[in-house]
Order: sequence, then structure tokens, then C-alpha cells
Amino acid sequence: MQRHIIIVAGGKGLRMGSDIPKQFLPVGGKPLLMRTIEHFHAFDKSMPITLVLPQQHHHYWQELYHKHRFEIPHQVVNGGDERFFSVKNALATIPDRVLVGIHDGVRPFVSHSTIEQAFAEAEKKGCAVPAMPAKESVRLADGDTSAPLDRNKVMLVQTPQCFRSEIIKAAYQAEYNPLFTDDATVVETVLKKHIAITPGNAENIKITTPFDLELANLLYESEQNKE
Ligand code: C5P
Repeated sequence: MQRHIIIVAGGKGLRMGSDIPKQFLPVGGKPLLMRTIEHFHAFDKSMPITLVLPQQHHHYWQELYHKHRFEIPHQVVNGGDERFFSVKNALATIPDRVLVGIHDGVRPFVSHSTIEQAFAEAEKKGCAVPAMPAKESVRLADGDTSAPLDRNKVMLVQTPQCFRSEIIKAAYQAEYNPLFTDDATVVETVLKKHIAITPGNAENIKITTPFDLELANLLYESEQNKE
């Protein structure tokens, strides 16, 4: 099946404490969003890329890609007020009977193996998301109290989350719910579908805080030294 990737970068990145949204901050001298797009292009040069950006940042993005001579073809779609609406806007441009991957623009170190396994499993089962086992002990907080959870049953979910297009489009017909923090949750809540889990990669971190950005620069250097 033909594969499409949606890269969501429609957020304003307020937790980073910077005026520039986190997806545009530099990793190894280049906006981290460009590094994310480069990983998908290197994985499959023929896979169409849809990038979701806040409308007020389209012009800034154009400036950045001229400055960095960025030449990877992609279509740009307007972001919405919540990630849910950003994804919904992008899905409206995706054809039927294809596979769709949805990836956070702020995860620039996704591996080819993470991408391949999630798409391949979604082709077989309809829905697949990469995840990593929890290494820390985990507790479920409830007001002033908390209770231990069996960490062997806890998985930390990554992206790209991959689906057959008819499934993900049907799920996104639902009303917005604040619990919809990722796409698997939308599909599972709305359609009661089983979500297959595939292996993620430890470097596939979501850059959210200034510490994550420091880590990203170190990961970038280590990636360069391996090449
Ligand atoms: O901040 P959050 O964890 O929701 O961000 C995950 C991804 O979703 C980021 O890449 C962010 O740019 C994107 N997003 C979006 N539209 C929004 C909010 C977040 O595309 N309104």
C-alpha cells in the first residue's frame, strides 16, 4: 500500500520558554523540524510528506528553508488550536486506501527501523504505534496519594503512529476530547479498535524542554560521529 507521512508541527511550544516555537529551534545548526523531515525522506524518497504548521509561521518556514537551502518536497497545511485539529486538517488532504503515519515534528531522531515496523504492522493489522518499555518504577498519582503500577505493563508511546487511512479518517470524525493526546487514543476511544505495538527507538525523544534540546544536540553529534 502507498504510504503517506503527516508531520505535525502546529504547536506553539510554550513549555520551551522560547519566543520561537520549539520545532524551529536548531539542532546541529539546523531547525529540528528539518532534521525530522530529512529522516523520513532518507527512509523513503517517494513517500509524500504533509507538514502541519501554524498559519502565522508559514512565512517564517519559507524564510528558513531558503536560508538552509532545504529542498525536500512537502505540502504545508494549517495547524489547529489542538494537536487533534492539526491532524484533522492534514487528514482532509490524504487520499483513500493508503497507509498514513502521523509523526510529531519535534521527534527528529526516529530510526528507519521504527518507521518501517510501524507501517508494516499497520498494513497487516490496521493500526500500529511504536512504544518503549518503562525503565523507571512508575506510580499512578491521584490527588495527594499515589499507587505503584507494574512497570512491566507500562509502555511509553512514540510516533509515527500508523493506520490504514479509512480507519484514522473515520476516528477523526469524532468530537474533540481533551484526553486525545495522540492518534492511537482517538482510534481506540472512538472505534474501539485494537492498537498493535511495535518497537520504538530510545533516541526518538520528544523535544519539549530546554534539557531535551541539549540532549538533542548531543544525540546529533553522536549521530554525526557514527557516519
Ligand atoms: O505539545 P504536544 O505534545 O501536543 O506536541 C506534539 C506535537 O504536536 C508537536 O510536534 C506539536 O507541534 C504538534 N501540535 C500541533 N498542533 C497543535 C499542538 C501541537 O501540530 N495545536
